[in-house]
Formats: sequence, structure tokens, C-alpha cells
Amino acid sequence: MKEAVNCSIEQRNAAVAQLSIADHRRDQAGLTYVYPVLSRRARGVSIGINLNRNRACNWACVYCQVENLRRGMPDAIDLDLLERELEDFLQEALQGDYLLRHVAQARCRRLADVAFSGEGEPTAAREFTAAVARVAAALENRALQGKLPLRLITNGSLIDRARAGLAILARVGGEVWFKLDRGDAAGMKTVNQTPGDPARALKNLQSCADIAPTWVQTCWFATNGNAPDAAAEAAYLDLIAQAAQRIRGVHLYGLARPSKQPGAENLSRLSAAAMRAWGERIRQKTGVRAVKVSP
Ligand code: SF4
Repeated sequence: MKEAVNCSIEQRNAAVAQLSIADHRRDQAGLTYVYPVLSRRARGVSIGINLNRNRACNWACVYCQVENLRRGMPDAIDLDLLERELEDFLQEALQGDYLLRHVAQARCRRLADVAFSGEGEPTAAREFTAAVARVAAALENRALQGKLPLRLITNGSLIDRARAGLAILARVGGEVWFKLDRGDAAGMKTVNQTPGDPARALKNLQSCADIAPTWVQTCWFATNGNAPDAAAEAAYLDLIAQAAQRIRGVHLYGLARPSKQPGAENLSRLSAAAMRAWGERIRQKTGVRAVKVSP
């Protein structure tokens, strides 16, 4: 990766294909920590920050799209390199013609956000708070705070050690997308391959929402052809109801891209109608402010 560090972003871009919603490879710009992707949810180019270069996560979600995912923690982060890559990319996207050359659809030629969303859990990085501070400074130096949203995509399991970073994120108008796929212990064990502790997940969610604006993100899908059953639905609704007044809302999404994990063949998408109906039930039964559905 040394050449990529030292050459200009123009040279790196020469090898970059058009960005595509179907392709979320994290090496598209040839950088180490910064990767641009077209995001259907964010409707534009999301500048991803990947703090998990070694593809290690403390969870192992069955729908995870990270190839060769393994359990563990991220390697040490080179903060100076991360900052340089972000500064270079912002320069090219805002003052150069990066978007014109790499985004086919004119309506998507916009920066949608900067998102800590890597090949593992971002808050597991020891340098997480410092990384958020560097990214926040890059936005503030360009007066982009509050204009270009800063997002943290997290499984929420390490919120206690991420508090300082969350506070910085909140200061620059950022928000958290907090993963909560199921409300029952059995569902959490099966879907996220965690010990499954709904009370702890709720406490983490409430703590997070008290520091920074927080959306719950929920992946809902069928296993072996069966959608989550009535008990799983009830447990989920109960958990969301307990946090409904503190969170901004729920992003409900389906299997947008195939899982890269063992057993992927057992997972399938639910129909758009079923997803919308489930989203409406979440809204009605929990009192949450908003439910956005991406089937
Ligand atoms: S928390 Fe995210 S990165 Fe980790 S296994 Fe789940 S989907 Fe993959």
C-alpha cells in the first residue's frame, strides 16, 4: 500500500472503475482507510472510513458482506495516513472532477456522508476517539460540519468505550446507526452470533442515544424460507418500544447484497410488501418517531 500513500489521488483514480451500488469493495480508490461507495440508503457517494483493515469483528452476523471475516480486533490505525487520505479525497471530490468521472448517474454526483463503516466494528479500534477527532477536524476545516453528515455504523456492543468519540460526532452534527436486528436472546445468538443479551443491548442503545442522535438499523430477512416468527416480532417490538422516545427512528432493511458467510444460501429476502407492512407495525406498536424501509 506504500505506493498508494505516496502517489496523488489522480494517479490512484486512473485504475478506479465507475462506482456502482452493487459493488461495495473497500479498495475502490486504492487507499488504506478511505473508500468511496455509491450508497442507496444515503443516495449519493458515501466516504467510508474503514478502521478494520484486517477484517476482524467482535460479531459474526450471518448476513455480513465482509469476505474472509474473522473474529478479533482491528490492527493499530495510522491516524496521519487516515487524515491525509480523507483530506485528499475531499479535495478531489469537492474541487476536482472525481464525481463527474466516477459516478454515472448525475443525480448521485453528490457527497452523501462520511461514514465509519468498515470490515468490522469501528469502535473496537483503540484509536477510535482519535480517528473521529481527525475526521471531525477535516470537516470543520472545510466548514462542512452539519452539512456533510458524519455517521457511525456500529453494532453498539462497545458503546461504553466509545463515549468520547460519540460526543465529538455529536458536536459536528453526526449521528449513529446502531445495529439491532432482533429483540430476543435466541435471535441475537442466531443472527449476530453473540451471547444474546437483550437487556444489555437496550442499555447500550439508550446510552448511545443520550450522547448522539441515534437511529436503529435492523436487517430483517427469512431463514430457510421462514420470516422471523410472532415471538421474535413481539420481542423486537418490546425492545424498540423501550427506547422509542430516545432514538430518532428505525432503518429497516433487507438483504441488499448476498452474505459472504457460511450458510448464506439459507438466507433470503422478504417481499417489499412484507417489509413495508412490518415497518408499519413497528411504527404503530412502538411509538417510534420514524421508520424508513429499504426492502
Ligand atoms: S457487526 Fe457488521 S462487520 Fe461485524 S459481523 Fe456484523 S455486519 Fe459484519
